[in-house]
Formats: sequence, C-alpha cells, structure tokens
Amino acid sequence: MKSTKGNLIRASMASAPRKKECILLNSGICLKCNVVVVSEKLEDHSGCFCGNVIIGGGKVYLGRSVVDRSLYRELSEVGVRPKKLTLSLV
Ligand SMILES: [Zn+2]
Repeated sequence: MKSTKGNLIRASMASAPRKKECILLNSGICLKCNVVVVSEKLEDHSGCFCGNVIIGGGKVYLGRSVVDRSLYRELSEVGVRPKKLTLSLV
C-alpha cells in the first residue's frame, strides 16, 4: 500500500493553486487598425485608434472592453515571474 499513499500526495500537490503565477504582459491587438494595446499599470486604460479595444488593469487583472471580438486577438502572458533578474552592466 506504500505506492497508493505516494500517489495521493502527488495528486494533492498537483491540484494546489500556483501562488506565484501572475500577469507578465497585459496586452491585446486590434485587428481592425493593427494596433497592439498594452496596459502597464492598474489605472492605465489604453485603447487602440479605432476604439475597438480598450485594455486595463496592468499587472493586477486582465481588463477588457472589446466591441468586435472577431477583430481582437489576445496577446497577454500569464505565468511565473523569474525569481531574480541579474543584469550585468558592461
Ligand atoms: Zn482598433
């Protein structure tokens, strides 16, 4: 019965929420006017030229206001942020 116990532990770990997952890029493209809209900050609500796409929420939430969804493509990236970025300045 040792193997059964091991499987149970593994299953419970797999279903646990990934706490470190966050919004890396909050962005989308309007296919009507070909403008990539990016929201950098929470209060930053950016729109494209034709007004089809408005994106907000920054790195906090994926705020979307899209008039025609057939003319919109999601570009956002959600994942685990790298722990440390070491920049070496030469
Ligand atoms: Zn547009």
